[in-house]
Amino acid sequence: MTSRIYYTDPYCRRFDAVVTKTFEHDGHPAVLLDRTAFYPSSGGQPFDVGRLTSAEDAVDVIDAVDAEDEVLHVLSAPLPERTAVHGEVAWDRRFDHMQQHTGQHVLSAAFDRLFDNRTVSFHMGADLSTIDLARDVSWDQIARAEAEANRIIWEDREVSIRFVSPDEAAALPLRKEPARTGVLRLIDVKDFDLSACGGTHVARTGAIGAIVVPAVEKFKGGARVTFACGGRALRVFRALREAVSGSVRALSVLPHELPGAIERMQVEAKELRRAIKKFQESLAAQEAARLVEAGETAAGETGGAGRVVVEALDGWDANGLKIIASEITQRSSAVVVLLSAAAPFAVVVARSRDLAVDSQAVLRGLIDRFGGRGGGKPDLAQGGGLGGSVADIRSAARELLRGSARASNP
Ligand SMILES: [Zn+2]
Repeated sequence: MTSRIYYTDPYCRRFDAVVTKTFEHDGHPAVLLDRTAFYPSSGGQPFDVGRLTSAEDAVDVIDAVDAEDEVLHVLSAPLPERTAVHGEVAWDRRFDHMQQHTGQHVLSAAFDRLFDNRTVSFHMGADLSTIDLARDVSWDQIARAEAEANRIIWEDREVSIRFVSPDEAAALPLRKEPARTGVLRLIDVKDFDLSACGGTHVARTGAIGAIVVPAVEKFKGGARVTFACGGRALRVFRALREAVSGSVRALSVLPHELPGAIERMQVEAKELRRAIKKFQESLAAQEAARLVEAGETAAGETGGAGRVVVEALDGWDANGLKIIASEITQRSSAVVVLLSAAAPFAVVVARSRDLAVDSQAVLRGLIDRFGGRGGGKPDLAQGGGLGGSVADIRSAARELLRGSARASNP
C-alpha cells in the first residue's frame, strides 16, 4: 500500500522513497513506491509528472495512475526494485492543479449556497475546467456566483484537511455525499464549504488568485460551466483581449460597441445579398436571352427541334448558372450545359419540358470522366468540383447529350 504524502501535506514536492515493485504498464516501465507525493489522476484532477533520482539514475515520471491502495508511477526508463529514490514533483503543473481544484470547491459551493444548484461532476482540462450543475443557470446567476467565489478568495480563508469516520461524516453538513466508504478526507474552506475529496488543494483561498467563468452551455438538463483560476484566469483574459482588440481594430469601434456593430453589419449584408440576388436575376435573364439567340438548333443533341447551349460562363457562381439555365429552359425549347470558367468547375445541366434528354444522366457522365459530385432530376441537375479543361468538358457534354437524346428517341 502506497503511503500518500499529499493526503496530509499537499505542498510536499520533494520526498525520499524506496521502489517496492517493478512492472510494465501499457508498454512503459512502471514502479510502486513505499510512499509518494505524486498525485495520480482521480476525481477530475489530472496526474502529476516529475522525476525520480537514484544513486545511479534519473528517470522521468510521465504518468501516475490510481490503483486502489497503490499509486502506479509510469517511467521514461526502468528502475530496479529496492532502489532508494528521491522524488520531485513538477511544481508549476501541480500548483496550477491545486488552484483549479480549490477554486472548483469554492465555485461549486457558491452555486450551491446561492441558488441551491448542485455540482454533479468536475473535469480539469489542460486549459479550462468545467463543472456540471444539476440545473440550468442564467448569466446573472453566474455573475453572482463568480462574485461570491472571488469574495471568498480575497478573504484568504483557511483551507484545512481533516479525517473523519463515516459516522462523524454523517453528522456533518457535507456539500456532497461521499463516494467512498471508510475513513473520509474532508476539505474545509473555513465557514464556506465542507466536502469529502482526495485531491490536492491550496492552504488558503488567496492562493487561488481569481476565478472567472468564460462560458456556459446547456448540458444533460443542467449546465456545463467553464471556469479558470489563477494563471489560467489571466490566460483567459489575454485570449479575450486579443480577440476583442483585433475586432475593434477591424471595425473601428469601441469594445462595448462590438455587438451593435456586428448586428448592423449582418443587417447590411442581408440587404446586400437581397440586392445582389435581384441584379443577378435580371442579368441572368439577359444572359439567357443572349445564349438562346447564339444557340443552334440541333436535333442530335436535343432529340427534337430544340436549341443546344453548351457554354462556359465567366463571373457566375453555381447559383447564377442554375438561374440562367432555368431561364433558358423556361423560355424556349432547349438543352443547356453551363459551366463556370475555371476549375474546379461548377456545372448545370437542364432541359425544357418538351425534350426527353436526361440531365441527371448527362451530369453523371461528366462526373464519371472529370470527377466531382452532384445530382438532380431529369429536367435539372447540378454538380461541382469537376477537373479537366473547358474544351474537354464541352465536347464530352455534347457527346453525352447526343447519347441521351438517342436513348430517349430510339
Ligand atoms: Zn477537492
